[in-house]
Amino acid sequence: MAERDYYEILGVPRNSDGEDIKRAYRKMALKYHPDRNPDDKEAEERFKEAAEAYEVLRDPKKREIYDFYGHEGLRGTGFTGFRGFDDIFSSFSDIFEEFFGFSPRTSRRAGTAGADLRYDLKISLTDAAFGKEMEVEIFKRGRCDTCNGTGAQQGSAPEVCPHCYGRGQVRRSHGFFTISTTCSYCHGEGRVITNPCKQCGGGGLVKKRKKVSLRIPPGVDSGSRLRLRGEGEEGERGGPPGDLYVLIYVDPHEFFEREGDDIIYRAPIPFTMAALGGEIDIPTLDSSKKIQIPKGTQPGEIFRLKGEGIPHLNGRGRGNQIIEIAVQVPQKLTKRQEELLKEFTSLEEEKGAAGDSRWWKKK
Ligand SMILES: [Zn+2]
Ligand SMILES: [Zn+2]
Repeated sequence: MAERDYYEILGVPRNSDGEDIKRAYRKMALKYHPDRNPDDKEAEERFKEAAEAYEVLRDPKKREIYDFYGHEGLRGTGFTGFRGFDDIFSSFSDIFEEFFGFSPRTSRRAGTAGADLRYDLKISLTDAAFGKEMEVEIFKRGRCDTCNGTGAQQGSAPEVCPHCYGRGQVRRSHGFFTISTTCSYCHGEGRVITNPCKQCGGGGLVKKRKKVSLRIPPGVDSGSRLRLRGEGEEGERGGPPGDLYVLIYVDPHEFFEREGDDIIYRAPIPFTMAALGGEIDIPTLDSSKKIQIPKGTQPGEIFRLKGEGIPHLNGRGRGNQIIEIAVQVPQKLTKRQEELLKEFTSLEEEKGAAGDSRWWKKK
């Protein structure tokens, strides 16, 4: 769908209040309602467009984002619009109730949509950083093999609904036009099952294990959510399947701490190296690196390895690896080491008294 301005779609000025917007939407919904414009593609588009515009403009938060950033801004919020008429009618059932006296559902397809599912997935920091193809096993309602999803016992078939004569819809006159509503006896399916399948109880679905392949994009973090369209539960008798949402949880790493796309590594070095300088090997996400420790390095001093952090999700480049120096003081000394350190101390004392020089200079 071409992206038209939402205010233009509803034909209202940008400073309209909620009531004006609602009124404008009601007018559009009435004009382009699918029951009044059967098989009119143009009207269908208009109807959907108006619903999407209303969905955004009636919500002060979404409206603010839209006013500020336009369509692009809404994409960042995960706003996806509507999937079909059923979606629109259930979202605005209050408006349709108010307007028509009841909520019409022009269910073009029979059956109910499958439920969305959630799967919590634990992954390592390395997999979060570099991405991974993996397979998860989920437990969900899928098509019953015994009845092939029809819900009817083998050897029998669903019968034509005696209420709607198989149409799935009953028509009701309301004022000057007629509205079709879903037949409540057969739930719009047009058929009823008199002899239900023993395996699934007539629903056509049974719980099943299923392996789902997924690709974890590089740069995900705990709380990242992947959406796998159509991998949720199967819809009932011809209804569309739901989606599978995979929630990422990144396991803490043995050496690294994550801060955004940077990783922090605390490098222990002996106190002698801090004083004299040297070279150490440190682990990186990819493998390892040698870094130079300059003479006189202090505890807590920070070094940066540019571009050795986590890759930016949906972008180029990587964060940094931050190395924080942890100076280690030996807890056990040999006699010889102790002698040498004592000698070192006496040389230091010749240079001046120990303690906080800022303080004893004032005494
Ligand atoms: Zn069955
Ligand atoms: Zn029926």
